[in-house]
Amino acid sequence: MRLPKFEYLGPKTVQEACSLLSQHGDKAKVMAGGTDVLNVMKERKITPQYVVGISGINELDYIKADADGIKIGALATLTSMANSSAIREKCPCLAEVPLKMATVQIRNMGTLGGNLCNAAPSADTAPILICLGAKAKIAGPNGERVVALEDFFTGPGKTVLGSGELLVEIQVPNQPASTAGAYLKMSRVSVDLAIVGVGVVLTRDGDSCKDIKITLGAVAPTPIRAKKAEAVVKGKKIDDALLEQAGKIASEEAKPIDDVRGSAFYRTEIVKVYTKRAIKQAMEQAN
Ligand SMILES: Cc1cc2nc3c(=O)[nH]c(=O)nc-3n(C[C@H](O)[C@H](O)[C@H](O)COP(=O)(O)OP(=O)(O)OC[C@H]3O[C@@H](n4cnc5c(N)ncnc54)[C@H](O)[C@@H]3O)c2cc1C
Repeated sequence: MRLPKFEYLGPKTVQEACSLLSQHGDKAKVMAGGTDVLNVMKERKITPQYVVGISGINELDYIKADADGIKIGALATLTSMANSSAIREKCPCLAEVPLKMATVQIRNMGTLGGNLCNAAPSADTAPILICLGAKAKIAGPNGERVVALEDFFTGPGKTVLGSGELLVEIQVPNQPASTAGAYLKMSRVSVDLAIVGVGVVLTRDGDSCKDIKITLGAVAPTPIRAKKAEAVVKGKKIDDALLEQAGKIASEEAKPIDDVRGSAFYRTEIVKVYTKRAIKQAMEQAN
């Protein structure tokens, strides 16, 4: 399938990109790695007059650790996240996620910013980042603002980004001692989109779980926290009965639909099993 005609604009700074986006409004579309956006353009689902290619904005391609945690520029690729020593040391559960996504070629091109701004309910990087308490830094015509990643998604393909705004950075705070996480993904084949994704980050205290966040992907219009399941586990000694109960409650919090990848019933059952497994895995890692 051929791409529709468009004019390519290649800003070199965030300020230049925001001003082009403000100037062209709905006629313009941001492109980072292009692994999502070019497909929807080929399918004529969108036909922007201008493509604002941000891949030349070098200031957005970084991963660094500082006293507060890890800062990941929007243009960091999925491959660079998996290979990052800062992420591997501070948040090994986050480094594992890109390895469960797509193919090597897509991971080399696809960016973290693109995965989040595409806002697919199945976006694999979202659940674990939400569990880690990540924040999204947004730049726009009126300056910068920071929002909790949990509040970034507003619906399938929709985010809080306004006209002229660009996601510029993801901030992952330092985690307390004895904290670990796990992301479990069910998909038809390993390179496919998630039928269900379950992220867990918890802090262990002996045999008990001191604190926990559980985020479900691909079972609602946006990634969602399973807060009732979290409340059941928090402060308790982890045993099989509690894991069973947490899985059941998380599955009741999911709001899945039937689609080409899986039925709502199947998704609900997988949430039940994967929540149990992810908590167990995170407890083992936090040991
Ligand atoms: C074969 C294949 C397999 C895939 N497998 C997976 C998978 O397993 N899991 C998964 O989650 N995804 C998967 N994807 C989807 C995709 O590859 C990822 O979402 C990727 O991270 C997108 O990044 P990108 O840089 O290519 O985004 P682009 O295609 O460049 O952009 C995606 C969207 O985000 C917007 N955007 C990009 N960057 C910014 C920014 N900084 N600020 C504002 N808006 C921005 C664009 O306008 C567009 O709407 C797959 C895609 C393909 C083609």
